[in-house]
Amino acid sequence: MVQEDFFKKIVAHCKEYGFIFQSSELYDGLSAVYDYGQNGVELKNNIKEYWWKAMTQLNEEVVGIDSAIFMHPTVWKASGHVDAFNDPLIDNKDSKKRYRADVLIEDHLEKINEKISKEVEKASKRFGDAFDEHQFRTTNVRVLEYAAKIESVTKAFNSALEENDLEKVRQIIIEEGIVCPVSGSRNWTEVRQFNLMFETKLGSVSEGANTVYLRPETAQGIFVNYLNVQKTGRMRIPFGIAQIGKAFRNEIVARQFIFRMREFEQMEMQYFVKPGEELKWFENWREKRMKWHLAMGISPAKYRWHKHDKLAHYANAAFDIEFEFPFGFKELEGIHSRTDYDLTQHQNFSGKKIQFFDNETGESYVPYVVETSVGLDRTFLSLLSAAYSEEQVGDETRVVLNLPAALAPVKVAVLPLVKKDGLPEMARKIMDDLKFDLNCIYEEKDSIGKRYRRQDAIGTPFCITVDHQSLEDNTVTIRYRDDMTQERISTDKLSGIVKSKTDLKNLLTKL
Ligand code: ATP
Repeated sequence: MVQEDFFKKIVAHCKEYGFIFQSSELYDGLSAVYDYGQNGVELKNNIKEYWWKAMTQLNEEVVGIDSAIFMHPTVWKASGHVDAFNDPLIDNKDSKKRYRADVLIEDHLEKINEKISKEVEKASKRFGDAFDEHQFRTTNVRVLEYAAKIESVTKAFNSALEENDLEKVRQIIIEEGIVCPVSGSRNWTEVRQFNLMFETKLGSVSEGANTVYLRPETAQGIFVNYLNVQKTGRMRIPFGIAQIGKAFRNEIVARQFIFRMREFEQMEMQYFVKPGEELKWFENWREKRMKWHLAMGISPAKYRWHKHDKLAHYANAAFDIEFEFPFGFKELEGIHSRTDYDLTQHQNFSGKKIQFFDNETGESYVPYVVETSVGLDRTFLSLLSAAYSEEQVGDETRVVLNLPAALAPVKVAVLPLVKKDGLPEMARKIMDDLKFDLNCIYEEKDSIGKRYRRQDAIGTPFCITVDHQSLEDNTVTIRYRDDMTQERISTDKLSGIVKSKTDLKNLLTKL
């Protein structure tokens, strides 16, 4: 299937089966804002629980908090967001469409990269087994020209950003002949900086009102609570603080469904370490975080590391975990070694000492921080896009979500074969027994085949069917989503089987 069509199918599937709806759809929607439906919220909550337990329960030195979305405005001065949380934007005068200038340039470079790949592919076909890719890449004139182009544009672009020279950024777009994907024209406005934070007013009278921001990341809530948690929890370095919560960014180009939203959720953890030990902990968390993703059972080939060559001025190491979404490899999680930048900034702006006193060595220091920051919605999208599949079964197509059983929105569907003869009553009894431990669904409408298909489409790992034999010998059939096989089992074994197969422990023990 073409990737674009595949992506459209996922978006349509999310709506049809109650995973994700456009926000305020009744009023024609609000761009880049989404609501999670009855199945979406279950899946999302399960991902959160998986992350929360993996971080806080499995690491005894990591604790959680839940800080407020509103924070003192000076927090965002100290963090650098007021002055520098900007994207360079540019408008096309003909189409009136707005773009991120950096994204236009990056897409342009990616196109040149694709040209290189095509040359390599062509040559590989031509030369067959004798093809030496390295030699080709380092000697072919056309490939070398393309590579030199990428290098020179990247260099010019990086230096323009460093110097905050927006005219230079515009010049690159003009000189490279980058056109608007909608109008096809090169009629561009100047480039402007656009701050991504949403502002609002605190207080009822506007005169005395204070400008506050909707937080663009959850991390600052952790930094400003460092001392509170360290002291009240009697934490010793190294230790971590984890948080899950909403973040808001006024994204200029908000496409790609829940990949880039204006209101989204992050799962972040700040790990406070002794200066000088940060790179060791950085490697440790890199490994742990990749394991967390892989334990969900998605093919490792779907993930890759992206090393930041150009580091933020305060960072001394940074990697992203990228995932192959239907629109290509994109950032899913960032793992960054942020030195003592954030705590020192808050120390300077608040005038209060933020340090750790090590009573064994008698030293005081501002801890260094290793941060792991993953998008909850992007994790959701990674799971859905890996889980969605269409299978040919006889002359029918079955749509199935092969989600990990522990994360599936509904764990068990209890289905009486027919709506009479006491079968619904027995099915209800089974459901009443299971519902304290598992999210179950009871369904008696439509043929059993149709009911199975509906459960496949939302990823329910087990369907329990109650038939006439059940009344006689207390057995039911259990149908497995992935291979559609069925087994007859006694009802007293049911709860044990489904509980063990849907237990989050199955994922957590892989970490
Ligand atoms: P990008 O480069 O894609 O804009 P970022 O580098 O700005 O992302 P971070 O500030 O590192 O992102 O945020 C940490 C994580 O939060 C990201 O890895 C991503 O999973 C998630 N995230 C960031 N922005 C959004 C958004 N607009 N919508 C959904 N998730 C987001």
